[in-house]
Amino acid sequence: MSAVEFKGYALTDPSRWNDLKVSSFQPKTFAPDDVEIAITHCGVCGSDVHTLTQGWGESKLPLVVGHEIIGHVTRVGDKVKEFKKGDRVGVGAKIGSCMQCRPCKSDYENYCPKSISTYNSEYPDGVVSQGGYATAIRAHQQFVFPIPDEIESRDAASMMCAGLTVYSPLKTYGTGPGKKVGIMGIGGLGHYAVLWAKAMGAEVYAFTHDKSKMGDIKKMGADHIINTEEKDFFKPLANTLDLIVSTRDVFSPDTPLSDYLSMLFVHGKFITVGIPDANQPLPSLHPFSFASNGCLIGGSSIGSKKDALDMLELARKKNVRPWIEEMPMKDVGKALQNVKANKVRYRYVLTQDLN
Ligand SMILES: [Zn+2]
Ligand SMILES: [Zn+2]
Repeated sequence: MSAVEFKGYALTDPSRWNDLKVSSFQPKTFAPDDVEIAITHCGVCGSDVHTLTQGWGESKLPLVVGHEIIGHVTRVGDKVKEFKKGDRVGVGAKIGSCMQCRPCKSDYENYCPKSISTYNSEYPDGVVSQGGYATAIRAHQQFVFPIPDEIESRDAASMMCAGLTVYSPLKTYGTGPGKKVGIMGIGGLGHYAVLWAKAMGAEVYAFTHDKSKMGDIKKMGADHIINTEEKDFFKPLANTLDLIVSTRDVFSPDTPLSDYLSMLFVHGKFITVGIPDANQPLPSLHPFSFASNGCLIGGSSIGSKKDALDMLELARKKNVRPWIEEMPMKDVGKALQNVKANKVRYRYVLTQDLN
């Protein structure tokens, strides 16, 4: 028996990508490892826009997106020991994995080849996963995170994807005192990257072309703000940065990637977390671009439960809070439009208005 009715704001017609209609849907079959959650908050992620506009390929229909979910546990399966009814929890961009493979057994369950995305994925029972612009969701306990009492739900929501997506590479690649870390693109993800990297003790270099954001970025704690519209902005920083986390999700053949790489210190890493539409590959690079500093290019995809728990502890201990705007879930169309137009400062969080 489910304690909640499953319905949400769904895409029904891709030609009207942000005109979402309230629709009921069938949840996955409840399993012994599952946690059922009544949703109170859901952040609006760029992935939602890429999916709704069909930029990452044709989506299933009808489809409820949203994967920055906070709510209260309404039901737990027999194998769930960590959570009980009433607990406040979060769910991010993944909702299940095989729990058998090498990544799953190495605390890299977010890299499981059989992982199930929070929406637009198919469960083994054939049901399509539906996201967080909805009343409720079911998730495997490994993909459910307990929210510390000190962090309000409105603040925790966007940590579930945006926060975790940048926290994971910052941690993996050694962000801490004595390290110089560059953050490229200060939007939803980038603003978190600045906040986390500062809280982790690094010297933070924020790269943006948007002059209107520079005052905010200073308040977020960036030590240096670099205007990428300025000619040769990269030259004074040659051989400086230990790590660049790039949140850009738009690339063109003339994106000056080799200029960015030239700013890395020896064996420095350029990690991209932004995923552009399918027709926008990274610009081509000549091996010369790696020769002067032995730099590396890589990617990172959300984070594991271990990363999520670490991140929440950092937020709790260092009192890190995101810059968000709240609105009721029925205004999701407007929120999506503003995310697409790059007008959000710096993340929208939708509050539940369905019952
Ligand atoms: Zn996301
Ligand atoms: Zn697996």
